[in-house]
Amino acid sequence: MQMQSSHVAFSYHFATDFEFVRVLSSALAARGVPAWYLDKLIKPADITTEQYLGGLFDWRREPQNWHATYLDQLSRAGGIIVVLSESAAESRKQIGRGMWRERAAIEFFLADNPLRVREIIRTSETPSDAMVSELATWGRQVLSLPSVLRKDIDNPNAFNEPTGLGRGIPLQLPEGKSKATEWYELVRRDLYDVQWHCRRCGLQSDTYVMAQENPPAECPRCGFESMPCPDEAEAVQLGEELSDKEREFLAKVPDFIAKLTARLTKQND
Ligand SMILES: [Zn+2]
Repeated sequence: MQMQSSHVAFSYHFATDFEFVRVLSSALAARGVPAWYLDKLIKPADITTEQYLGGLFDWRREPQNWHATYLDQLSRAGGIIVVLSESAAESRKQIGRGMWRERAAIEFFLADNPLRVREIIRTSETPSDAMVSELATWGRQVLSLPSVLRKDIDNPNAFNEPTGLGRGIPLQLPEGKSKATEWYELVRRDLYDVQWHCRRCGLQSDTYVMAQENPPAECPRCGFESMPCPDEAEAVQLGEELSDKEREFLAKVPDFIAKLTARLTKQND
């Protein structure tokens, strides 16, 4: 049985368009179209937004996995409103930036039905009444469509590959965060447990406990292999220059692996 969608979701540039989206979202809700948007972005104070969005920091300090939250909301959304402003257009173009990372999921909605995606250009501080009415009409249309991401597969974990790490014990290190271009987002649940989310269709693995597997080479449901690089010449490449913090973190990894392997070996004996 196909579920009905419960809301529409926003893809937008948090730093510049938050207030516009907040106002538009409540105006749509008042007209019977619930709309979800990421309402906060929390990052450790000493890392840049680019490092945070690109996953270039010690994963154990992750206060909020915004992309997983976004994908989770999309799994129940009927449509997506993409808010375009000058800054949003920049964010969409640059590898690793927020709206760039949301493109794959939007593409999946478009492939299902182009009606599901609405791009709007922001030209004013607040949305006009005409825009609100028009989007409310659109919202009611897409909410009545069957939801997009409902075809689950029985066991996405069946496609995971054993890592071959560890002595007799398969092992995945949850601090190996996925690169911005990889098809999956690694989501940390707690100190040891991780999960992957497909960045296009939202399929999730179970939580790995002291994880035993690697995610497969592509999404077992939608076949997504990696994020496209829209314009490599122009795009900002993350991670070419390591910061002192990143160097410091990388220096600790071998020791952490040794300790974790020792602990697993002990557990196994
Ligand atoms: Zn997928």
